[in-house]
Amino acid sequence: MIIDLESIFNVEGLSKQFDYEVDMSSEELYGYYPFRTPVRVKGKVANETGIVEVNADACFELNIPCSRCAKEMSKPMKVHLGHTLVRELNNESNDDLLCVENMQFELDELVKEDVFLSMPYKFLCSEDCLGICSGCGKNLNEGPCSCEAQTDPRLDILKQLLDN
Ligand SMILES: [Zn+2]
Ligand SMILES: [Zn+2]
Repeated sequence: MIIDLESIFNVEGLSKQFDYEVDMSSEELYGYYPFRTPVRVKGKVANETGIVEVNADACFELNIPCSRCAKEMSKPMKVHLGHTLVRELNNESNDDLLCVENMQFELDELVKEDVFLSMPYKFLCSEDCLGICSGCGKNLNEGPCSCEAQTDPRLDILKQLLDN
């Protein structure tokens, strides 16, 4: 979606609301294409006392495998976008400041950028996900595997000591 910033920069108190969807289905994340459904973006660009800000929430479902057990899950996510738009930067280094040279502001690119920046390195199906057995590859959330019967003999000795 392209937002014309010209009038917003020129008129104090003016705001433009938006509520639309961004297709991110061709975007790759950690080797997957997890944005199967559109990203819903809702917010506004407003000029409040001469300062132009964009504030929005991007809501979407992420279809991605668990980093521990590899089971695919659907995770609802919400990413907040908040930036002050400026026409030029005066040696300010602030990530929240966004310099717009073109008054035709391409919101989709900002949405994609902020969504990617907010992605965690790991996705877990649950905080106490047991992962997969390194021996047989079974998903241990679905029950113990037969590898557990073959315990390390050194552990047996330790267990005997503890039992006594
Ligand atoms: Zn898991
Ligand atoms: Zn196993």
